[in-house]
Amino acid sequence: MSRYPFTTTIDVEALKRAHRIETVVSKYLPLMRKGSGHVALCPFHPDKHPSLRISPNLQIYHCFACGAKGDVINFVQEIEHCTFVEAVQKIAGGQFTAPAVPEPPLPDRRPLVCKLRTEQENAQFLASLLPYDPGDTALEAVYRAFGVGISPMCAYDRYKTPSLQRMMNRVIFPLHNAEGGLTGFAARRIGDQNPAIPKYLNTALSDGFDKSATLYGLHHALPEIRRTQTAYIVEGYKDALALHAAGITNCVALCGTAFTPQQVDILCSQARQLYLVLDGDVAGLSAAVRIQMALRDRITCHKIRLDKGLDPDELFRRVGAVGLRAYIGVF
Ligand SMILES: [Zn+2]
Repeated sequence: MSRYPFTTTIDVEALKRAHRIETVVSKYLPLMRKGSGHVALCPFHPDKHPSLRISPNLQIYHCFACGAKGDVINFVQEIEHCTFVEAVQKIAGGQFTAPAVPEPPLPDRRPLVCKLRTEQENAQFLASLLPYDPGDTALEAVYRAFGVGISPMCAYDRYKTPSLQRMMNRVIFPLHNAEGGLTGFAARRIGDQNPAIPKYLNTALSDGFDKSATLYGLHHALPEIRRTQTAYIVEGYKDALALHAAGITNCVALCGTAFTPQQVDILCSQARQLYLVLDGDVAGLSAAVRIQMALRDRITCHKIRLDKGLDPDELFRRVGAVGLRAYIGVF
């Protein structure tokens, strides 16, 4: 039994005023701000560049590539393959069914299980981590979800593996493959007091960790990357955590590498467009240009410039989740 039997004439104009097109479309597709409107990858043709424009002023959508256009009701009709009356019912009832995105296979370059040699020791190491305070309560839940912690110096004697021993008294970022299997650890020195010691240490290649095939946060980010066909790339672990804390969960970090062919393969197999959110310094900008050049024939790649000297982690701490989303242009 329908909630809206339509035995009487409904006021379509009132419905459209109450349910703005940008809000309804955003239930199906991630929108990016552009000028006075929004753009998205068009769901009505195989779109590689965001061709779909949504105009909040005119309350219409229009794809410049395939010509699809109309109002909010037409959009729901098209994307849900339903009648006008059914579309009105869905809009009025807020019952949207986002089309399922098939899961593309990942490139088969690396084993699906953890290669770390000393699994028991690694599990023990993970369990020994002390809670890490990221210095902003809005970041705490994501740091916990990603298992970030501090390795206590007093546990040093428990480990035989030198690469674990080296990591004591550091901030530990556990690293996983796409399936969520533990593949290694990154260990950041605490604070910046002693520049004589290395800022980051990684699990050694001899212990089975391949930095060049790792994207930090990939297993957390994959569902949203697949749903939106879009991935955000940042440089550092903390930058990825900041985007996730801001609700931009289709974000991965490069883990201190230049973009490697393995990383490119993984992302190109899962997404149709990438957003590079690299640091606003010279190194970050030249890295972005290099990456864009390397990817130009394979995937649409956009650059988001941060102000000089700013990275996403710093930005989150200054302007919070809402500010970071606005800065990056996520609707
Ligand atoms: Zn189109």
